[in-house]
Amino acid sequence: MKPETGMLTKDIIKKLLIHRQASTNKGDYGHSIIFAGNTGKMGAAVIAARACLRSGTGLLTVNVPKEERMILQTAIPEAMLSFRSTSEYDFSRFSAAGIGPGIGTDKKSDKMVFDLLEHFNKPLLLDADALNIVAAHRELLKKVAHSTIFTPHPKEFDRLFGKHDSETERRSAAINLANEHNIVIVLKGHQTLITARGISCLNTTGNAGLAKGGSGDALTGIITAFLAQGYEPFIAAKIGVYLHGLAADIALGKQSMESMLVTDVIDCLGAAFNHVQ
Ligand code: AMP
Ligand code: MG
Repeated sequence: MKPETGMLTKDIIKKLLIHRQASTNKGDYGHSIIFAGNTGKMGAAVIAARACLRSGTGLLTVNVPKEERMILQTAIPEAMLSFRSTSEYDFSRFSAAGIGPGIGTDKKSDKMVFDLLEHFNKPLLLDADALNIVAAHRELLKKVAHSTIFTPHPKEFDRLFGKHDSETERRSAAINLANEHNIVIVLKGHQTLITARGISCLNTTGNAGLAKGGSGDALTGIITAFLAQGYEPFIAAKIGVYLHGLAADIALGKQSMESMLVTDVIDCLGAAFNHVQ
């Protein structure tokens, strides 16, 4: 397939974003669930959850190990919690799920990924260790529902789909693989590629201040929030990637690329929304 890759611009995002109506309530904006964090990696859960809440979800439940609940509950009073389990999960309340940041690859994490792929029939995003779990159990690729979003960085992409020697090669493979597996691939990096159904675009926002731990966890939260609000997955991925990068660009007003924390980026999401609306 000959890849045609456009650039993701402010005008495109402006047209895709739906304005929040005055007479709405939380029930109109979906219930996100984010499966994130594990002992020593609870920061990933806090970051993903905070970014999700700053991106318009009506409700958020965060799934964490029960013994780590105080961290999440104290850091983010707006979030509800559910806990890792060895028995069946009840997914019925949720409009969209994001899974992966900091979950590790233990048995409970494996089970979460297996259960979500088997039983969750709403929009789903896989990131980080969730992608590594799929890479370790490649038969799971057959269970991935149509339009599921994968958000690998280059190493995660290569673990899933084999080694690529250059970014050009990897991008072209991503376009073909997203089409072949009926998924949306967000291949992260400088100028993140977003691709589905043989169509692709490159992001134009973001800077090297994002080149540090936690940046991708925020993106998971942001895109999950858009899925929960009912945006079609390819569109949710485009808006999420663009706003994540734009928030990082706005954060440069007060921070340098060196000093920027992902928390600063999340705090600039409001300004990013206001800039495109
Ligand atoms: P992760 O590796 O999962 O933490 O994801 C990193 C996030 O930061 C992705 O959204 C990348 O697109 C973004 N990012 C990392 N480095 C850069 C860069 N040099 N320029 C723009 N965005 C970047
Ligand atoms: Mg990551």
